[in-house]
Amino acid sequence: MRKRALVVLTFAAVGGLLLFLQTTQAAPSLQEDEEGFTKLGPPKRGEWRDVFKEAPQSYEKYIAGGVNRKSEKRKTFYIQPLGTAGKNYKEVLERMGLYAEPFFGVTAKVLEPIPMFEDVLDAKRGQYDASMIIHLLADRVPDDALVYIGITDKDLYSEGMNFVFGEASLSWRCGIYSLVRYQTKDEALFTRRSLKLLSHESGHILSIEHCVTYACVMQGANNLREDDSHPMHLCPIDLKKVLWNTGIDRDERYRKLQPLYEKWGLKPEAAWVAKRLGK
Ligand SMILES: [Zn+2]
Ligand SMILES: [Zn+2]
Repeated sequence: MRKRALVVLTFAAVGGLLLFLQTTQAAPSLQEDEEGFTKLGPPKRGEWRDVFKEAPQSYEKYIAGGVNRKSEKRKTFYIQPLGTAGKNYKEVLERMGLYAEPFFGVTAKVLEPIPMFEDVLDAKRGQYDASMIIHLLADRVPDDALVYIGITDKDLYSEGMNFVFGEASLSWRCGIYSLVRYQTKDEALFTRRSLKLLSHESGHILSIEHCVTYACVMQGANNLREDDSHPMHLCPIDLKKVLWNTGIDRDERYRKLQPLYEKWGLKPEAAWVAKRLGK
C-alpha cells in the first residue's frame, strides 16, 4: 500500500456536534477594504478557526516551500466523475471544468465516468471509504495532471469520522469529493457550493493552506452553514499564490470569471468581480 505524505480532510466530520456549540454571539461588523477584501475578526465559537488553531501561510512561506506547481509537464486539470455522478451531475461537472480554467489558469478536462469503487462500500454505514478511494485514484493520475479530482454522488467517510465531504493527497495531486450533501433545489446554490469545493480543494492540492486572515474561499469550515458564509473569491494573499503558481494574469482571470458568474446566476460574485475590473 502506498504511503501518503500529507492528507487533507474536508470539513464537517463532526459537524453535528459543532453545530450545537455555535452561539448567538454577535459577529463584529467587518468591512470590505477598497479592494473588496474583508479581514477576519475573532472566530465565533465552534467555527473552524475556533476549533483548529492554524498558523497563517504567507506568500513568502508558500513560494519557499515544496509546492505542487504548474509546469510544462504538469498543467492539466482533470475532473473524474465516478459512477452515476457522471449522469446525475452532468451540468455542474461541466461548470466545474469551465470554472477551473480561469480560476487556476489551466486547461481543464471532464473525463468520461469510471465505475464507482464498490469494493470500498461499508454496507453497514452505507458509505464509501474516502481514504481507500484516494489510493485507487492515485494509480490513475495522468502524468500531465496538475490536479486530478474524483467526484461522486455517494456519501463518504474516513476512519473516526461520521462522514467527510472528501479527502485529498497533495503528494499524489489527487482528491475525491462527494456532492451528495450539497444537493438543494436552489440551482445557483448547488453550483456555488460545488465550485467552492472545487476551488478550495484544488487550492489545497496546489499546496495552499487554510486562510485565517481574510474572508476567502480557502477558509476552513466545520459545517455547511459555515462554508456557505465564505466567499467564492481568493483573498489577496492566496490570489498572489495562485498567480505565482500558474502564471495567469489577474485581470484576465477576473475578465473570464465574470461572465461565468453572470451566466450561472451567481449575482453577488459577478458584481464583486465587475468591481475589481473597474479598478
Ligand atoms: Zn480545506
Ligand atoms: Zn485567503
